[in-house]
Amino acid sequence: MPDIRNIVILTGAGISAESGIDTFRGGGGLWEQHRVEDVATPEAFERDPNLVLRFYDMRRAAIQEKLPNPAHDALARLDRAWNGDLLIVTQNVDDLHERAGASRVLHMHGEHLNAWCTYCDERSRWTGPLADRPPCPRCGARALRPDVVWFGEMPYRMEEIYAAMRTAHLFVSIGTSGAVYPAAGFVRDARSLGAQTLELNLERSQGSSWFDETRLGSASEVVPAWVEEVLAG
Ligand code: NAD
Repeated sequence: MPDIRNIVILTGAGISAESGIDTFRGGGGLWEQHRVEDVATPEAFERDPNLVLRFYDMRRAAIQEKLPNPAHDALARLDRAWNGDLLIVTQNVDDLHERAGASRVLHMHGEHLNAWCTYCDERSRWTGPLADRPPCPRCGARALRPDVVWFGEMPYRMEEIYAAMRTAHLFVSIGTSGAVYPAAGFVRDARSLGAQTLELNLERSQGSSWFDETRLGSASEVVPAWVEEVLAG
C-alpha cells in the first residue's frame, strides 16, 4: 500500500453485528419488530414519545450487555499503533469502538449512552431509562431524549469529517449498506479528493462500484486481516 499516512474509516451496523447488535436492514426490514419510521424519526417522537423512548431504553439496556468483537479490537489496535492521522467515523450509536480501546472515534449519528436535554441543550452520559421522564441533571427540565440522530435530522460534526477526508490517503468503509446519506456519499467524496478507497463488507453495498477494491467477508475476519496488512506496511 504505497504512501498511506492518513486514514479515514467509516463503520456501520455491520461491524457490530457479530457482537449481537441487530443491523437496520436485516430481519425483513424490521428493526427489532418495529418499522424504522415508527421509532427513528422526529415525527415518530412527536406522535408517540412513549413508544420511541421505550424502544431506545430497550436498545440502551441491550448494548450494555454486548461486547466488542475482533473487528472492533483490530481497529483499536490500528488506532493505538498508527502514527499518521486516523479517524474512525462511525454511524453506530453503540460504544463498542471505545470499549475496545479506540480513541479517535467520531459518532456522526450520536450515542445511545447520551441523553440530550431539548430545553437547555446539555448532553449527559446516560445508561438508565428515559421513558419515566427523569429530570435533566443540569436544568431539571423533564425534556430528555436519546442523543441519536434520527432520519431527517442533521448528522453531527460534518466539518470535522470533511476536514479529515481532505487529507486522507485511504478511505475504508466497513459494514455499511451505503443506503443512508450523507455517509453513503463519502466514498465518492473521498475519491474526488484523491484517496484510495476500500470496502470491507459481508456483501456488496449499494455504492460498491465506487470503491477501488472490495473485500467480502464477515467483519471479524476481514477487518483484523486488513489491519495486520496495514501495520506490516
Ligand atoms: P445497515 O443495517 O443498513 O447495513 C448493515 C451492513 O452491514 C450491510 O451492508 C450488511 O451487508 C453488513 N453486514 C452485516 N453483517 C455483517 C458482518 N458480520 N460483517 C460485515 N458486514 C456485515 O446499517 P448502516 O449502513 O450502518 O446504516 C443504518 C443506520 O443504522 C446507521 O445510521 C446507524 O446509525 C444505525 N444503526 C446502528 C446500530 C449500532 O449502533 N450498532 C445498529 C443498527 C442501526
